[in-house]
Amino acid sequence: MQFKKFVVCACAAACGLAATSSFARDILRVGTEPTFAPFEFLDTDTKEFSGFDMDLIRAVGTKAGYDVKILNMGFDALIPAVMTGTIDVIAAGVSITPERANRVDFTTPYYVSGVSMLIHKADAGKYKTFADLKGKKIAVQIGNTGAGKAKAVPGALVSAFNTTSEAFMDLLSKNADAVFLDRPVLAYYLKNQEKAAKVLTIPPYIDDAENYGFAVKKGNKALLEKLNKAYADLKASGEVDKIYKKWFQE
Ligand code: GLN
Repeated sequence: MQFKKFVVCACAAACGLAATSSFARDILRVGTEPTFAPFEFLDTDTKEFSGFDMDLIRAVGTKAGYDVKILNMGFDALIPAVMTGTIDVIAAGVSITPERANRVDFTTPYYVSGVSMLIHKADAGKYKTFADLKGKKIAVQIGNTGAGKAKAVPGALVSAFNTTSEAFMDLLSKNADAVFLDRPVLAYYLKNQEKAAKVLTIPPYIDDAENYGFAVKKGNKALLEKLNKAYADLKASGEVDKIYKKWFQE
């Protein structure tokens, strides 16, 4: 035992950094798009990635034996990045859709959501469902499910932005008539942006339910199983509920 320790130390000293890192835990490279509060956003004080997804993937990744490293990318770049191996997993409020499931593998669903819309208060009587936006201007984030639903509205003029912040700005400045986006994100925005809350509103309408999952490279069964097992353990221990309560309880 003593001898072994000595050998390891000598090697670590001789090989420098390379040897040191071989004792470290593997890094899990997580891609996100942090304009999706309360799931992922950059904390203005700490500049850290913050939110429900960020806490959850840190807990799941750590439990699965990794050091979690979070990387910032465009939403539409996330799936290509996991497919090419630039990142190991996506944690970005990604809804599990059949089309996406052809390109990546999803973990156990961890949150039920759905797309709704944000409109001007003055239009509340006019715009009750997505179809009422026929021929109107809709602001969305590139590549998300809200963007897909906006494009399906006949004659709609869709402006697609890299971030949700730009889509919100487009609506606030009255360039757009609506933003199509996941309802909990719209609700969080209105709750935290006093100025916006004065002039904007979310109608009761919600489209179909969508499940969020973390996504890994298609066929990466080993990682998928590790993440699912870690998630199941954290769910059983009450840790997932704790994180949920932190972000979603009044
Ligand atoms: N849940 C939506 C989707 O997967 C929106 C995600 C997002 O914009 N971060 O498309």
